[in-house]
Amino acid sequence: MFMNTCEFKSSCTLFNELKERSPAIHKAIKEDYCDSGYSECARFIVSRFHGPERVSKYLFPEDTQEACKMLDEFS
Ligand code: SF4
Repeated sequence: MFMNTCEFKSSCTLFNELKERSPAIHKAIKEDYCDSGYSECARFIVSRFHGPERVSKYLFPEDTQEACKMLDEFS
């Protein structure tokens, strides 16, 4: 079944930290990625292949090049 929200929300450190620290950025990321285009989120990509615990706290959703490097490193 197609999910329209990211399955890693509860374990995503960026998603959860920004909620308190930067509500405006949190809202933008939620709208652009978490609740719609999560399959293009760099954090989602790494989480899907290697687990959310392997995702750097500082990886932002738009950092897909960095995500590709991480996939290579962890393989
Ligand atoms: S930032 Fe990415 S991995 Fe984290 S909850 Fe949003 S879509 Fe999922």
